[in-house]
Amino acid sequence: MKTLGLVVPCYNEQDVIRLFYDEVTKVISSLNASYSCELVFVDDGSTDKTLPILQTLAQMDPSVKYISFSRNFGKEAAMLAGMKYAVKFDYIGILDADLQHSPSLLVDMLRYVDEEGYDVAAAKRVDREGESRLKSSLSNTFYKISNKVSEVNISDSAQDFRIMRKKVVEAVLEMPEKIRFSKGIFSWVGFNVKWIEHENRERAAGQTKWSIKKLFRYAVDGILGYTNMPLKLSFVCGGLFFLITLALLIYALVKYLILLDYNATLPLILSAMFFIGGVLLMFLGILGEYLARVYTETKSRPVYIISQTNTIPDYTMPDYLKGE
Ligand code: UDP
Ligand code: MG
Repeated sequence: MKTLGLVVPCYNEQDVIRLFYDEVTKVISSLNASYSCELVFVDDGSTDKTLPILQTLAQMDPSVKYISFSRNFGKEAAMLAGMKYAVKFDYIGILDADLQHSPSLLVDMLRYVDEEGYDVAAAKRVDREGESRLKSSLSNTFYKISNKVSEVNISDSAQDFRIMRKKVVEAVLEMPEKIRFSKGIFSWVGFNVKWIEHENRERAAGQTKWSIKKLFRYAVDGILGYTNMPLKLSFVCGGLFFLITLALLIYALVKYLILLDYNATLPLILSAMFFIGGVLLMFLGILGEYLARVYTETKSRPVYIISQTNTIPDYTMPDYLKGE
């Protein structure tokens, strides 16, 4: 019997979890009887009734597992925790709890990985329905920049919605970084991917958890995580501006010392100074961003902390994590 684990990150999804559960169990029961399937809900520190609902579901249905975090650690952390547990299955799927990722697509995905020899079957969106204009144009810009400068190519329509073989998830878990950008990681590990077009649905209930600010942070992580280009850019710009100022300096010196023209020099030198100052600050900022990442990675803190789960029998949160 082949096994399938479906990882579902949930953050304040009380309005939609039951709907999701009903729809996804329908899909699972329509699958060939040769699969055994578990649902792995990761409650990312929800402050609403998400956890009690998951616990009730788990009591009713032994194939429901939940992992509940001590606070909100973000979707990346939730996916990581889910994959760490689900890596024991033959196939591992990831999908959102809000039904924007149609569970019915799982059937096709499973066919591609199980029967057609693909390692990954992932959804690619054909539209951005149900998303604000500003959000979709910002994210288009991000993917354009990112693909120009990064060593991995991330399709602007690629989604986290996917089914992977065990070996792919093992490769993803091999990556030790704490600041995780799954779209980059999934692309970086490679493997044989089947892209399936998928129309984005409206959220079934509840609200999006991604503010523009959160998305911006995510975009910066995505770019800085996969390229050193901004650092090189600072070197190239620094060199260029050095040459320009050198030329300016020679020009000013010639005017000042040989032509004895004392009028033109001050504005010239002042503007050059401010210009260089600005550029220096800008690249210090870029350096700072990389340094901050090195700092975070070397602290090597856990990506998430589990407070309750039924995936480990009799789990109690270790005292040293309770901060008591
Ligand atoms: N999510 C999460 N932690 C967060 C934010 C979101 O686990 O901090 C989950 C959320 O419950 C949902 C999925 O990630 O299942 C996608 O989030 P959302 O629907 O808010 O994002 P959008 O679809 O608007 O991009
Ligand atoms: Mg959503």
